[in-house]
Amino acid sequence: MSFSALGLSPAVLLAASKKSYLKPTPVQAEVIPAVLWGEDVLAQAATGSGKTAAYVLPLLHLMLAGSSKVLILVPTRELAVQAGEEIKGLLAVLGKNNMARPIKLATVFGGVAINPQMMQLRGGVDVLVATPGRLLDLIDKNAVRPEFFNTLVLDEADRLLDMGFAAEIKRILALLPAKRQSLFFSATFPDDVTALATGILHNPTRVLI
Ligand code: AMP
Repeated sequence: MSFSALGLSPAVLLAASKKSYLKPTPVQAEVIPAVLWGEDVLAQAATGSGKTAAYVLPLLHLMLAGSSKVLILVPTRELAVQAGEEIKGLLAVLGKNNMARPIKLATVFGGVAINPQMMQLRGGVDVLVATPGRLLDLIDKNAVRPEFFNTLVLDEADRLLDMGFAAEIKRILALLPAKRQSLFFSATFPDDVTALATGILHNPTRVLI
């Protein structure tokens, strides 16, 4: 199995190869085609499985092909930075090779000053990586317009709930368009995580590696 067999565009394939992603991991091999088809996805994936690239590569493809706007919710600052860096690395390859229109990325999390993040968000973004509490603060300050995100990723959903973000996630979901593509990643599926997934996803492709 190669990345090129999964349906990704030449620009995204180049970005993957420059990052030395030569062969899809098992999660990527199943998640990428489903995302490209526009399906919701429920994936069991732990850190180290390549789950970040599993959603970033096909979403990049969709963003380049159309006008997708992507919201990625993560539980911690550490994971926000990690996902943001992975996306930044791929975008840098595209920019260097003039292979795509510019895609604007922002990464926001709590525990730091909000003003620089508000500056970063001016004019809107194509892809936003955020922790839930800070995202709500930014929405309350009109720095983020949630109604424009037509794609949602919940990364490490079990940790999002462990960290007590259930109420925040509920508030955020109510502000997003009902018609959207949603991708749900979790290492474990206790009852509360399964219930959250059921409330978010429509007829998802299930990826259980
Ligand atoms: P993750 O599970 O998303 O935390 O990714 C784990 C690590 O694997 C990250 O450092 C990625 O950059 C790397 N990675 C993801 N996909 C691939 C791939 N197909 N081939 C090689 N490395 C990868």
